[in-house]
Amino acid sequence: MKSILAGLGALVMTSALSVMPAVGQEAGSVGISMPTQSSARWISDGNSMVELFEAAGYQTDLQYAEDDIPNQLAQIENMIVRGVDVLVIASIDGTTLTTALENAAAAGIHVIAYDRLIRGSEHVDYYATFDNFKVGVQQAQSLVDGLEASGREAPYNIELFGGSPDDNNAYFFYDGAMSVLQPLIDDGTLVVKSGQMGMDTVGTLRWDGSVAQARMDNLLSAHYTDDTVDAVLSPYDGLSIGIISSLRGVGYGSGDMPMPIISGQDAEIPSVKAIMAGDQYSTIFKDTRELARVTVGMVSALINDAEPEINDTETYDNGVKVVPSYLLEPVLVTADNLEEVLVGSGYYTQDQIAN
Ligand code: BGC
Repeated sequence: MKSILAGLGALVMTSALSVMPAVGQEAGSVGISMPTQSSARWISDGNSMVELFEAAGYQTDLQYAEDDIPNQLAQIENMIVRGVDVLVIASIDGTTLTTALENAAAAGIHVIAYDRLIRGSEHVDYYATFDNFKVGVQQAQSLVDGLEASGREAPYNIELFGGSPDDNNAYFFYDGAMSVLQPLIDDGTLVVKSGQMGMDTVGTLRWDGSVAQARMDNLLSAHYTDDTVDAVLSPYDGLSIGIISSLRGVGYGSGDMPMPIISGQDAEIPSVKAIMAGDQYSTIFKDTRELARVTVGMVSALINDAEPEINDTETYDNGVKVVPSYLLEPVLVTADNLEEVLVGSGYYTQDQIAN
């Protein structure tokens, strides 16, 4: 018995060793191109990937482009010239990488679109992301639930914000949200007093919080001097924080003017605190550690001539091809489950989110 077990152990050891690089030999190299450090989620994405790739024996080159498209292009070209095996790219503008990806393909480099779809190129091998339509559904449903729980009376005044029009995700978030909100707008339960709807009208270039704040200022002075806004669809925490500042500036959040019900995304710390303080109603937690894990798995498969794991082959058409994808589940967070989800999963410590 003992010798069978020893034999089995040896077998397991041998097969494990055969997929691991020998000491001093690298499994491969990966160029990781991230959009910006101005939002904490991308820092967490980058760090998680570097940690997991390095633990698996890969060499990494992590670059942030600070929302500057030429900068991202230059960083990617540089990775191609240096001869990485795989590129993992979260694009700033999903339509600007066609030539760079042609160069990558010519050099035999695999490309994974990370979180954001890269459009207009056949040279995108796989896409790792969250169920982006569902993110929008969850954001909108939380507004509806929050309005009902608030004791306000319908009809409710709502204003809509969209993400960056050059980010494919922004359309999925908006369409998902409108799948919940449009029927309620049509039956008069929700009223968009400004009449501003549609991504071409409500989009927020580069997901910039100050742009959202300025637009909210305009909405308030043009449409809400004699009325109050009850809810704001915000697709990202950084926008929610700008929107909250604008609202606070005209007296919401004090006296008899409660903050509207406001959504968000990414569970960024300022928004987690705003939720605990009652200024923001919800956010969407997307566990960037999980997205990194899925991506590292895809890269390992590609490098080892295996099939990466996917769970969606029909949703993400980039205009040239439907990119095989792995979609993770987003999680709605409100004051009710915030600690359990964010601290319980180890994403934040209690100290990090303490007000
Ligand atoms: C991501 C979101 C993020 C937004 C702004 C989107 O592409 O999916 O998680 O909130 O970009 O950075």
